Formats: sequence, structure tokens, C-alpha cells
Amino acid sequence: MPAIRSQIEPDAELMAQLEDILRSGHVTNDGPRLVGFEAALAEWLGVTDAIGVGSGSAALTLGLAALGLGPGRAVLPSFTYIATVNAVVSAGLTPVFADIDPETWTLSTESVGEQLARYDDVRAVIAVNTYGVPAELGTLAEQLAAADCKLVSDSAHGMGTEAPEGRVHPAPALHAWSLHATKVLPAVEGGVVTTRDPEVATEIRRLRRHGLAPDLRASSPGFNARMDELRAAIGHHSLQRLDGALSRRRAYVARLRRHLEANCSGRYQLQAVPEGVRPNGQNLAVLWRGSADVDAVIAALADEGVQGHRYFWPALHGLDHFQGQPSLPVTED
Ligand SMILES: *Cc1c(COP(=O)(O)O)cnc(C)c1O
Repeated sequence: MPAIRSQIEPDAELMAQLEDILRSGHVTNDGPRLVGFEAALAEWLGVTDAIGVGSGSAALTLGLAALGLGPGRAVLPSFTYIATVNAVVSAGLTPVFADIDPETWTLSTESVGEQLARYDDVRAVIAVNTYGVPAELGTLAEQLAAADCKLVSDSAHGMGTEAPEGRVHPAPALHAWSLHATKVLPAVEGGVVTTRDPEVATEIRRLRRHGLAPDLRASSPGFNARMDELRAAIGHHSLQRLDGALSRRRAYVARLRRHLEANCSGRYQLQAVPEGVRPNGQNLAVLWRGSADVDAVIAALADEGVQGHRYFWPALHGLDHFQGQPSLPVTED
């Protein structure tokens, strides 16, 4: 059994929609399915604007570009998927890695503070939602208030997580979401940016379409990061089934946790969830503390027909192309 299997249900309703789109001849370029999906998702999330793009990576790259940050550095956790740092580099920023909190595994505000004190050209801090658990976005925003620096959330893992601030924390300048097949709201491939700033939203819509303004003149270099009609229809179909998908995921996580407690007590650590947060069940990550090495655990799982793998590994700050990064003890542990 693969660790993650796409939850897209090819029912008659979806197949008929896909056929309609192909027969209509209007298969991409701001079509009605994209417009409808963006509106429905914005409403479900409780925000004014949701902008569909080609991937979560494109959401983060275009989001950073739309903020007009200029050259400089971006602070991000090393403990994240490689797409986070690739987006930083694509947006023309130099990555600086920070450590994570040992309990929640999200960006350490203390470590961010150290990097802000070390460099005077940090333009953005990218907080990553880790396995469905958001970073301390309110505290980070306060920390950045005095600096000329934007807070951005890589919310690729965060769709459907409930927090006291709602489904979309208001503090970051924008959130970048992924609709990849392995994420909670799948559109096969795809991404979304949400922002409360209408100018940033307009800028992202321009950038995703080769940099073209409504009068078809480009005012800067752009990018093709469109979401086509087929994927917008699949994303909308997934959205209509999202509440059910979330309760199934949460039930699976609860069941796996019960089995871990019963069979592996004392040999693992689970991620701490901050007060008032209800994660979406994106992943159940286990920090293995047993004497058997992780490869042996993965092999034993495979014998039971279950695929396990290291996730967010190896840590990004040790990669050959990011040399000279400080050591990050919690991430390395
Ligand atoms: C999946 C993911 C992304 C990128 O999303 P894509 O849609 O695959 O480009 C970015 N950040 C994190 C943390 C992710 O897990």
C-alpha cells in the first residue's frame, strides 16, 4: 500500500464535467471553471481572494515576486520540503535557514530572531505549516513589525486545519497552498495564493499570465503558471468533498496513534499541536526514538505492506548547493 494515494474520486459527475470542458474547446486561460473554483475556495477559506496557479511551488514563487521584495535574504526553516527553498531561489532571494521548535517542529521564533539580528537585508520570513500544524504566525508577525520584512506562509500542508484565527491566519502577507495529488485538497497538480491585499492579488494574476496586464501589455517579465479548466474542475470537485475527506483523515490519524501507543510506547515522539489548533490530518509523522534504525523500521513496514519513508529529509541546510549554513541542532536531531 503506498503511503499516500490520491483521493480524487472519478465519479460520473466529474467525468461528465471533464468531457464537457474538452468538448467546449475552452480548456484554459481564465475559463469559467477556474473562476467558479476560485470563488468557492475563497468562500470556504473565509478570504476575499484565492488565485489558482499551476502548482504550490508557483504559488510561493509568484507570491514572493508579487510582494516586490527586491534583492536580499529570506529566512525559512531547513526542515521543510525542498519546494520551499526552490521557490525562494526562483524569486531571486538568498535563503537563510533557521531551526525549528523541538515540540511542534515548526519555525522557531528564537532562531528567526537570531537570523534577523545577524543580517540586515532579510526581506521575507517564510513560515511553513508542517504536516498540518501551523507555525506561530501571530508571534512571527509581531517580531517582524519593526523590520522591513514580510511574513509569508507556505501553507502547502495546511488546507482545512482549524485554528482560533480561522482557516487562514490573517497575519501573513499571503499564504501559498498546494493542490498536489498528495495534499488534502487535490487537483492532480495545482496551487493557490490567498491574500487580503487586492493589489498583491492583481499582481499575481498578472504574473501567472506571462506578466500581461488586462490591455495585453507586459509591464515586467512574467511566467506561465495558469491553472487549466480540467484541473480547476477536479479541484472544485475535491472541494465539494473536502469536509468528508478531512473527517476520514482525522479518523485515520487517531487510529494510527492508538496503535502506536499500544505497540511502540517509549520508542517514538509525536508532533505537539498548539492549543486550539485542529490539524487537517495531512500526515502522521513519527520521530523515531527506538534503538532499531529507521531503515529497519521502513523495511519492517514494507513487510506488512505499508510504505514508510523519511519526510523532510535530508535537511536542506546540509545540501551541497547551500554551503556555509550554520548548524541547526533541532533540525539535525
Ligand atoms: C507540496 C509542498 C510544496 C509544493 O507544492 P507543489 O504543488 O508540489 O509544487 C511546497 N511546500 C511544502 C511544504 C510542500 O509539502
